Amino acid sequence: MDTSPLFLAQSLLRCPSVTPEEGGALSFIESVLKEAGFEVHRPVFSELGTPDVENLYARYGTGKPYLLFAGHTDVVPPGDLGRWRHGPFSGEIENGELYGRGAVDMKGGVACMMAAALDFIRENPDFPGSIGFLITGDEEGPAINGTVKLLEWAKGRGERFDHCILGEPTNPNQLGDMIKIGRRGSLTGRIVVEGKQGHVAYPHLADNPIPGMMRLLEGLLRQPLDHGTEHFDASNLEVTTVDVGNPASNVIAAEARATFNIRFNDTWTPASLEAEISRRLSEAAGNSVRYTLHVEPTNAIAFLTPPNEFVGFISDAIEAETGIRPKLSTTGGTSDARFIVKDCPVVEFGLVGQTMHQIDERVAVADLDRLTAIYRKVLNAYFAPAS
Ligand SMILES: [Zn+2]
Repeated sequence: MDTSPLFLAQSLLRCPSVTPEEGGALSFIESVLKEAGFEVHRPVFSELGTPDVENLYARYGTGKPYLLFAGHTDVVPPGDLGRWRHGPFSGEIENGELYGRGAVDMKGGVACMMAAALDFIRENPDFPGSIGFLITGDEEGPAINGTVKLLEWAKGRGERFDHCILGEPTNPNQLGDMIKIGRRGSLTGRIVVEGKQGHVAYPHLADNPIPGMMRLLEGLLRQPLDHGTEHFDASNLEVTTVDVGNPASNVIAAEARATFNIRFNDTWTPASLEAEISRRLSEAAGNSVRYTLHVEPTNAIAFLTPPNEFVGFISDAIEAETGIRPKLSTTGGTSDARFIVKDCPVVEFGLVGQTMHQIDERVAVADLDRLTAIYRKVLNAYFAPAS
């Protein structure tokens, strides 16, 4: 079988696997990995009110150390089909670029992981460790029947990973730009200030909630949450909406609402951050502002994989292949790495993200080869006999 990254990527791109559809993508991976000697499982997870989702877990070898490749084969919808230069599920190549929904996010990355692992195993069939694949079909959707449950399922089977590479597109401009060694957490809160509705000409008979809301927001924003840490930017609180919803100019409204979201660094846990927010609000409110704070439960913790030997293997492999020493970053949104990091250190490195989720998502065929070579070098370094 052809196990070049281009063939694997093309085959995956031709599977219409818009979340929650499997679209043939996981079946394709299963057949390729089985042929190479992997033990492959296809757990399906369900949850009331969400569609069932298929997932894949595969392992080659039984020994340690155990390196896990993680990713997803589901993709976001293609959007207006007529605006695509080549069909979103065509896998067409033009001018050295492979087109299709998921080309960079992240069927292309999955193809490179597979190509690298298969090549490594071909050359080192009896290497002492294990290589695994944890591939979900529910990353772009509600993310309920995907990585979280798959990790739980694997844990239940006694699987213990030592390190993980998540192949999301991490490079802003060119292959080798950036590794993600952590991610910020995310916390959303809602504030309601209660007043009393009334006539603007008789304010003593009413209680306007808006000045109170202004005091609370001012109290939240006055001081920075922190000044950043060694590998993280400062945490950031954004007020995302303030609503009174009062259409009348002669009425004092009954209540005011505001929502904020915080992207926080490793100074905080969700609990410590909530405590700080509560403290600031109560200080700003004094005895005069009546309000409630509701903080939404979050599983988006901040995490960091410290730049250790494992991160070094990846940086070295990238530099050897591209000539670029990658930036170690913790920027951007959340990813499935936040779930995996509870089981083992995770580093994210994949393709160039520029066209992800766009019309004409595409990847340079040369990048597929180079990313495969990088993963291949990482495997060499990772499983090299200790000297
Ligand atoms: Zn993705």
